[in-house]
Amino acid sequence: MIFKTLATAKAITDKIGPNILDSIFPASCPLCGEGVANAHTLCGECYDQLPNAPEAYCLRCGGDTVKAELGCGRCLVVNDSPDRVYFPFTYNRGIAKLLVGYKFADYSEWCRLIANLCWLRLQEDLCWEEPDIILPVPLHPWRFIARRYNQSALLAGELAKKLDRPMVTNGLKRIKMTKPQTHLSQLGRVANVQDAFKADHNKVTGRAILLVDDVFTTGATMTSAVKELKRAGAKRVSVLCVARTLKE
Ligand SMILES: [Zn+2]
Ligand SMILES: [Zn+2]
Repeated sequence: MIFKTLATAKAITDKIGPNILDSIFPASCPLCGEGVANAHTLCGECYDQLPNAPEAYCLRCGGDTVKAELGCGRCLVVNDSPDRVYFPFTYNRGIAKLLVGYKFADYSEWCRLIANLCWLRLQEDLCWEEPDIILPVPLHPWRFIARRYNQSALLAGELAKKLDRPMVTNGLKRIKMTKPQTHLSQLGRVANVQDAFKADHNKVTGRAILLVDDVFTTGATMTSAVKELKRAGAKRVSVLCVARTLKE
């Protein structure tokens, strides 16, 4: 176990590269506090405990399926799904700690760590996607003022650097002040985010887009955003969410 852990830590370190600041400010794992070789990494043990993506979900809409498949029954009938969804992780306590801290507790610098973790899992798929632009799921302007940063834009920015593609923050705007989705039913969620987004045709028409967000629960927000991007003429819209929740 210890050798596996050390090997994993080395693999993470080698991939992410050294940082001179680490020698001045020793880095620690944000999940357990253990010392780590480089900032923006987890220790090997915490990394090993991160759960893979769920095994069975539709690779287009992210919905539950019996086995992973490219297009479930719904996707065949209703044409508002993304072209592809990517989830590096299933939502669990470790991922929740990272995402909640990153989103609400002002640990915005964790975006580099989260982007590094996504990259470790999905580098090949994301390079294959060859998106023209990276788009974050936008916050409503009032929510942006309250939170001071859009966590999805920070993450999208880090992924854009890795993919060497531009991040376009104003390609999609949130024009409706939606309620938090957490306590709504599936139908309530769909209604809540219906017509919530407005795309800028000049920035998205004819483009292959990678749309980035943190957590995927029912996909209602993503579906609404994808629908608007496709309506505005996007050539392809793929979605990356850091973690997908499991059905309760
Ligand atoms: Zn740790
Ligand atoms: Zn589907």
